[in-house]
Amino acid sequence: MSTEPNPSPAPPDSLADEQPTEPPLETEPPVIEPEPEPEEEAAPPPPEETLGLAVTVEPSTWYEVTSVCATQTCPNLNTATTEPLVYSNAGTIRMVCGLCGKFRPILSAVKLDPQPEMS
Ligand SMILES: [Zn+2]
Repeated sequence: MSTEPNPSPAPPDSLADEQPTEPPLETEPPVIEPEPEPEEEAAPPPPEETLGLAVTVEPSTWYEVTSVCATQTCPNLNTATTEPLVYSNAGTIRMVCGLCGKFRPILSAVKLDPQPEMS
């Protein structure tokens, strides 16, 4: 973070302190070897349909779930919301958009610690 108000400050008076900025002589230029590409052929980007419409978690557990609507025509498109209390039931969490009624890709599901006491 710079608070310098002047983007081009005046150069210092270098007449009395002249120093050439020549780099030291090098006998050989550094050899730059191209690094081999890591093997990632088996990891193509997943299509949008598999973004995680359902996540498998521990059953009968409360989670804080963040999801985002991916429906192009939905007013909630790309709007992420966090539900602080989502019950996993049998161990699968799905989030349905309240506006378009479609499943919302789940960005994260965080197990609540401690689990809330539900009577
Ligand atoms: Zn929606």
